[in-house]
Amino acid sequence: MTKCPFCDSELVEERREFEKGVWATVKVCPNCKDEWVDEAEHDRLVGLFKRKTFNLGGSITVRIPKEIADALSIDTGTLVDFTVGGGKIIISKV
Ligand SMILES: [Zn+2]
Repeated sequence: MTKCPFCDSELVEERREFEKGVWATVKVCPNCKDEWVDEAEHDRLVGLFKRKTFNLGGSITVRIPKEIADALSIDTGTLVDFTVGGGKIIISKV
């Protein structure tokens, strides 16, 4: 999509901070200010926040995507803290 479906203005590509430190490319209508994300960028974002667990040495393991790890300054050996509740696991840097 290169033109706004509402006002037919030429869309402008911009980077938006989707989550803290996680950026997405969006197309913005300079007239309506509406924003669109194309299918490839949408799939990339969904893939970033959905990971399949796997078995590693008898433990269930999940990879933290590099973009998210970088945003939170998490590297190999970083100490993290788990909070469990309400069917969720929250991983925080200590
Ligand atoms: Zn528009």
